[in-house]
Amino acid sequence: MNCLICSGIMNFEAFVSSAAEGGPWAYEGWRCVYCGDIIDPVILRHRILSRTRELVSMGKDRGPR
Ligand SMILES: [Zn+2]
Repeated sequence: MNCLICSGIMNFEAFVSSAAEGGPWAYEGWRCVYCGDIIDPVILRHRILSRTRELVSMGKDRGPR
């Protein structure tokens, strides 16, 4: 697998977080050895969710006055 940003080599790694960061979690994903970009299902979902949230807030601003 190659990086989507710089086409560099990506390493498969396991990522682990502590409970202090919003709850213990662990997942596996790909990290670029050149630019450090991480690709994994969780991050992809976050990107889609944040984009959806922007669309929703835009819709609220368009209410009748
Ligand atoms: Zn990269």
